[in-house]
Amino acid sequence: MKASMLASQLVFCNNCGQEAHFSDGSAWFPKTRQCQKCQAFVYPINSGVSLADHYQENYFEGTEYLGYLDSRNVNRKNFARKIALLERTLKKTMSEFKILEIGTASGDFLELCREKGATKLLGIEISGYCRDICHKKKISVLSPSDPELSQKIMQFKPDLIVAWDVWEHLENPAQVFDQIMRYAEKTAAVALTTVQVDSLTAWLRRAKWRQFHPPTHLCYPTRLSFNLFFKNRGFKILRHSFFGYSRSLAEYVAAIFPRIKSKRKFLKPLFRLSVYLNLYDIQIVIANREP
Ligand SMILES: [Zn+2]
Repeated sequence: MKASMLASQLVFCNNCGQEAHFSDGSAWFPKTRQCQKCQAFVYPINSGVSLADHYQENYFEGTEYLGYLDSRNVNRKNFARKIALLERTLKKTMSEFKILEIGTASGDFLELCREKGATKLLGIEISGYCRDICHKKKISVLSPSDPELSQKIMQFKPDLIVAWDVWEHLENPAQVFDQIMRYAEKTAAVALTTVQVDSLTAWLRRAKWRQFHPPTHLCYPTRLSFNLFFKNRGFKILRHSFFGYSRSLAEYVAAIFPRIKSKRKFLKPLFRLSVYLNLYDIQIVIANREP
């Protein structure tokens, strides 16, 4: 068999959740493969690499985020906008849902849901550092490698599954979502934000795009990825748009002047100030399954 034929074998695409042909995507993004069905990019990693190793304390407090915990007020602002959008789109209040969050981080979203009256909350978080913070806040959170994970989700039976800026971090997001949706209520809603690789910003920046960030970002879906993914699973997309974020001024300053990171105490006051920015390269999708 010729090499070109081998290269065009069908493989499961973890962005559109379907069998697809893949081609070399390195003309756009180095070392990537591109799905011929949804045009998404994937950055292949060696199986067996532990993703948990990427998400120790220094990821949240220095290397990826300047200070995730210091940015709590800004994070809450973004989550409050997501909650308002969810309530408007799904025509229910948060208190009516059994909420499962994939990628809970330090629990700011679930904490805000609890303040809004939600009582049934469960998180899944890969970082042990973050799970400890959640436990201190009395938020139930599971490790993805918990041997009883499936069983616990089945017992919880979520009817709202959210994953904020998590899809791009996973090696096999479509499979992770499929597995969790199997244990959810039949009419469950799903809401997520992630990068959008067919955005103008990505197209202009290519390998310099701020979201092209292997090996922490591995999956780069398009808008079409989710149209195919949800349609094939009997979901109806209720909202699909771009989502902008507020960030602390400290994060902006550190991005422009990376050396200042070692002088965090001078940046402290800047964590209080937030700036909203929409680069139209992050998509939000809210979908639900018809009864
Ligand atoms: Zn695909």
